[in-house]
Amino acid sequence: MKINIQRKCNACKCAIDINRNDVQGVVYYNKLYYHTNCFCELAERRSALKSGKPAEWKNALDHVKDFEQAAVDALSADSPRAKKDTDDLNDYLIEKYNVTAIPSHFWIAVENLQKGFYRGKRCKRVSIDTLLAAWKWGQRKLDDVNKRNKMNHKGPKDDVQRISYDFAILVNKIPEYLAYNAKQEAAKEEIRTQSTRINYNNLQRTEVKQEGLGDISALLDEF
Ligand SMILES: [Zn+2]
Repeated sequence: MKINIQRKCNACKCAIDINRNDVQGVVYYNKLYYHTNCFCELAERRSALKSGKPAEWKNALDHVKDFEQAAVDALSADSPRAKKDTDDLNDYLIEKYNVTAIPSHFWIAVENLQKGFYRGKRCKRVSIDTLLAAWKWGQRKLDDVNKRNKMNHKGPKDDVQRISYDFAILVNKIPEYLAYNAKQEAAKEEIRTQSTRINYNNLQRTEVKQEGLGDISALLDEF
């Protein structure tokens, strides 16, 4: 199988290897991805519980095929979703950088990054939606870099060039973004686990501290 994209299974937390030209064995449910097998096990387990929306999980289990189709729609190379991701990045950059068009060499670089190539070297594959999320995460710092450059009469000569310049900075910051994102996800998961446990034991719901959420500034200091 030719693997050209990966997603994390929300049940077993392992990578799901995906061939975008033949998406199989993947479920997309409530904005999360699962191996079909892992999803069925999880849904069976959850639908047997008294708390945590068992009816919803039972329903999900009865419609696994629909959620597999949702994964195909979300991940296929020629899917409307893939096109939408490109459109979203395009729109974001055009507005943010105030340019009329984005040069084709930028899109070629983005396409290569999706395949796991950067400047002729192998790297981690980065999807367009991840790139866009990382871009938004780093934008404030990129703007600071730009201000500094302008003051020192350095850096890219116009806003179109600045897109490629910022892209190069971001590619090197992707591991940091992913670590930040993983930390956020872990914090959310912790909150979910705690509230499930609390509901399950029928205890009075306590306040869950949202530590680590929304605190970008601390992480960006390392920029
Ligand atoms: Zn799995």
